[in-house]
Amino acid sequence: MSACSNTTPCPCTYTSCSRHGRCCSCVAYHRRSGEVPGCFFSREEEKTYDRSIENLYRDYTRS
Ligand code: SF4
Repeated sequence: MSACSNTTPCPCTYTSCSRHGRCCSCVAYHRRSGEVPGCFFSREEEKTYDRSIENLYRDYTRS
């Protein structure tokens, strides 16, 4: 496994996740599932734990 020297605080509220704060692992994990990491979403939508592209689109187009 390659080094992951992230220094940015992780905003994901699922704090018991083993990938919390490890962006490289987080991105790879969600990418494998056709999803995006929680930090792409608004605060409200992040808390739903729905990391789908469809939900990201809804989140960004919500008025
Ligand atoms: S976005 Fe997903 S993989 Fe990343 S820390 Fe949160 S729950 Fe874990």
